[in-house]
Amino acid sequence: MGLFGSERKSGEFDLVVIGGGSAAFAAGIRASDLGARVALIEKGVIGGTCVNRGCVPSKNLLHAAERYHVYSRDGIPGIPKGDAPADFREVIRQKTELVTEMRKLKYEDLLGAYENITLLKGPAKFVSEHEIDGGGRKIASDRFIIATGASPQILPIPGLDRVGYLTYKEAMELDRLPKSLLVIGGGAIGVELGQVFARFGSKVTILEALDRIVPNEEPEISGELARSLTDEGIEIHTGGRVECVSRDSRSVILRTNTPDGSREFIGEQLLVAAGVVPNSRDLELNRAGIETDKRGGIQVDEMLRTTAKAVWAAGDVTGKMMLVTVSAQQGGVAAENALSGNKKRWDGSTVPHAVFSEPQVAGVGWKEAEARTAGHKIETKLISFEHVPKSAAIRDTRGVLKLIVDAKTYRILGVHIAGPQAAELIHYGTLLVQHKMVVGDILRMTFAYPTFSEVYKIAALSFKRDVTKLSCCAS
Ligand code: NAD
Repeated sequence: MGLFGSERKSGEFDLVVIGGGSAAFAAGIRASDLGARVALIEKGVIGGTCVNRGCVPSKNLLHAAERYHVYSRDGIPGIPKGDAPADFREVIRQKTELVTEMRKLKYEDLLGAYENITLLKGPAKFVSEHEIDGGGRKIASDRFIIATGASPQILPIPGLDRVGYLTYKEAMELDRLPKSLLVIGGGAIGVELGQVFARFGSKVTILEALDRIVPNEEPEISGELARSLTDEGIEIHTGGRVECVSRDSRSVILRTNTPDGSREFIGEQLLVAAGVVPNSRDLELNRAGIETDKRGGIQVDEMLRTTAKAVWAAGDVTGKMMLVTVSAQQGGVAAENALSGNKKRWDGSTVPHAVFSEPQVAGVGWKEAEARTAGHKIETKLISFEHVPKSAAIRDTRGVLKLIVDAKTYRILGVHIAGPQAAELIHYGTLLVQHKMVVGDILRMTFAYPTFSEVYKIAALSFKRDVTKLSCCAS
């Protein structure tokens, strides 16, 4: 029995969690560990975005696309390339099978292991701060957690509602590869799914409103990724707003307005990947006194408590840092705070993020402009993977690492990578930032040779010498 169990109160449930994805499950499990009786209310399929239509299917498809790309391209002299077409329908089928298995293992079956958690099906909405209408009945409780996630943002572009378009959900369910795909939005989803379709053979065009793709990354990182995607044949157009969309019998026609004038793009399918919006609109939040920002993100304090004392929120529905790791952490923290005295702060300052394109993109800590705006005196180093012996050895020197350090103490404030296995490499950077380490700490460490991780060593060495004049494994 956990701490909370000894203080059990009256009522059917000690905690009611609205949602059935990563944040909701993390909240339910933590609450159950604390001895609380929990209701989890989900209106659709349990598991949420990550397993059903986000991380899991997209990473499966990215891996499949990478395998096909390697198979069908020139690589190392002496290794023949293959020319058999991919069976796209079969690729999608195995993805769906995997999703079903993982949902069963990690969500459906898991509930059986927690007898304190009751799953209720159906939509939920607030009646008051202490009562909801959910799972087909009224439920009163002293504590609620909202973990309802987010959905694709549909842009108010004239004609869009009439042409038929895909979001990431439908794109990963297609059973036939489109000959061409227009993608609105060059963020994480546009880039990841754009590359999947391009590698299987679609002609992909990405249209990004801002002046570069992955615009939340450092400019050098965006540039490196854009170069690689362009080299693979993906067309990227930035700085243009989509004005209107129409359709003829075979294609979608999209008109953009850029500083250089108006342009038309034609594609068989259209993917809208222009961000997501929190699922907060149907919850009748006003009846409980819960406030949101303009985009519907539920406002929470550092303890993840909303503007209603009995209600906490976790994950994408808060509208910030929409990453599954954050959702799961927040779910646990919100449950602990709801049940054990509201004492735990959630701090996202050293949470790493990644985009799983190839090259991968990943980052942690401050970006250059943010650090300068905050008044830090900083120094930055940009290191190309062409200086990394492992990259040279495999004949693929694409990639850069950007290090941001305090100019006086050499404390590492930020690490940003576009390069091989960046989503793995970022964990070393995360330790450096989280534990307030300095450039000297990197230099004191021995790296296995040859590895991509040595990019950190080379970046650290670059503070005191010209790294173009280093021998292979110099330190
Ligand atoms: P995003 O916010 O990452 O990118 C959306 C992009 O669309 C932005 O670059 C934006 O400038 C652009 N855009 C907006 N309106 C536009 C318009 N009218 N015309 C052209 N471009 C326009 O959102 P996303 O890629 O849709 O992803 C949704 C969420 O899911 C994000 O929070 C993202 O971080 C998360 N996600 C994470 C991962 C990952 O961790 N690897 C992968 C996929 C999605």
